[in-house]
Amino acid sequence: MNSRRDFLQKLTVPFIAMPILGLAKTSCNEDHKNDDGPVLRVAIMGLGSYGTRVADAMKACTKAKLVGAISGTPSKLKDWQGKYNIPEKNCYNYETYDRIKDNPDIDAVYIITPNALHHDQVIRIAKAGKHVICEKPMAINAKEGQEMVDACKKAGVKLLVGYRMHFEPKTLEVVRMRKEGELGKTLFFQGLSGFKIGNPNQWRLNKQLAGGGALMDIGIYSINGARYMIGEDPVWVTAQETKTNPMLFKEGVDETITFQFGFPGGATASCLSTYNMNNLDRFFLTGENGFAELMPSTGYGPIKGRTNKGELTQPHVTHQTIQMDEMAGIILEGKQPAVPVDGEEALKDLKIIDAIYLAVKTGKRVDLKL
Ligand code: NAD
Repeated sequence: MNSRRDFLQKLTVPFIAMPILGLAKTSCNEDHKNDDGPVLRVAIMGLGSYGTRVADAMKACTKAKLVGAISGTPSKLKDWQGKYNIPEKNCYNYETYDRIKDNPDIDAVYIITPNALHHDQVIRIAKAGKHVICEKPMAINAKEGQEMVDACKKAGVKLLVGYRMHFEPKTLEVVRMRKEGELGKTLFFQGLSGFKIGNPNQWRLNKQLAGGGALMDIGIYSINGARYMIGEDPVWVTAQETKTNPMLFKEGVDETITFQFGFPGGATASCLSTYNMNNLDRFFLTGENGFAELMPSTGYGPIKGRTNKGELTQPHVTHQTIQMDEMAGIILEGKQPAVPVDGEEALKDLKIIDAIYLAVKTGKRVDLKL
């Protein structure tokens, strides 16, 4: 994730809400089947840094295809029409995108906008009758997350969340080893997730848009990782916050939080989330008989890993390519992923995030029932 983190340090976020004007017509292959079966036709909402990464990665997909775009910036839509062969009729802005319900050539919308916008956007897309893929964190608190899950259920559409590590081969190998008892009873997980954030004007440092600070953005990898590495949901949380730069990290935007979980089987986890330490990306899982370490553990890769038996040798894959192909299988063919990526899974992380913030505030252990 280094390139992303370097980029974020320089990032400014231009956002101009303007109507779409005079976009060039382009053609696109609208087939929704190929030799591998049905193809998921996806529109991306939010054509920023990560949206572009997903769009580029989708060029190599065999079961998912980028066919549409939603943006407030007409020039970006025009650029994407040319770059990704998107027809004008599949382009929308933030005022017009409810009309996607009348577009039979789009199956799903992938929401890749600032965190606090996900809630309303997911619900609007669900009401338009399209499946939704939403970036992490799915929302900025559990109440909003529950409303999103309920809205998608009511509309009869699927809600998936961009947990790309759930399809990453070395990660899945550690999950397999743990499930098959190769580490013995798992007893401890350590998750360290962080980078040093730069530009003070970016949305990630604005509570209104980010919903919080490092915990929402990068700490969520350790929260979610603790759950799929241990294979249980935590029953209690404790947490502590430190802030060395209150000018940059204003009220409600956390710089560094350490947090601990207890699991029903007796395992514990100890994690750190920060916007003030670069190249911090490590998972360590240990059981009675062995350990697994991933470092880097959640960057764009290659992920590196070893266990007490030696190096992990599973090949590097572009995370977003495999994620989108697998999500196509989940949405169109009812495939079950090894680690869930649905709204309910994301809601658990939001409940944990709420509990961590509460534990920081009260200084007390918070019990959880997930
Ligand atoms: P970004 O700033 O690069 O892009 C955000 C996009 O949203 C921009 O195109 C911006 O114009 C648009 N936008 C729409 N309404 C906006 C508004 N009111 N204010 C500001 N921007 C607005 O951010 P990003 O890094 O692409 O992150 C977007 C989402 O993707 C976040 O939820 C983030 O957590 C997630 N993300 C996930 C991963 C991952 O690996 N899964 C990586 C990076 C980001």
